[in-house]
Amino acid sequence: MPLVILEATHVRVVCDGCRSASAESCGKRDVPTLARIAAVKRFRDFGWHHDPGRRHLSARSENDSEIHGTGRWYCPTCARKSHL
Ligand SMILES: [Zn+2]
Repeated sequence: MPLVILEATHVRVVCDGCRSASAESCGKRDVPTLARIAAVKRFRDFGWHHDPGRRHLSARSENDSEIHGTGRWYCPTCARKSHL
């Protein structure tokens, strides 16, 4: 699932694998665009796996997806499963 924007700088990620794990990032001091980029980095640091769906996207939209966190996300537990 794509990231859910709760507030302009408050971002939640929900796992596409188990649909129960979630994480949130709040960047109150950041402008919304930077808050989202920071959230993507923070979730990755926690071990979340981001699948931007590059098989279906052009290079440009793939790049946008990497930056904005669209596409699928998997929690650290699901990311360790071999099918990913
Ligand atoms: Zn999961």
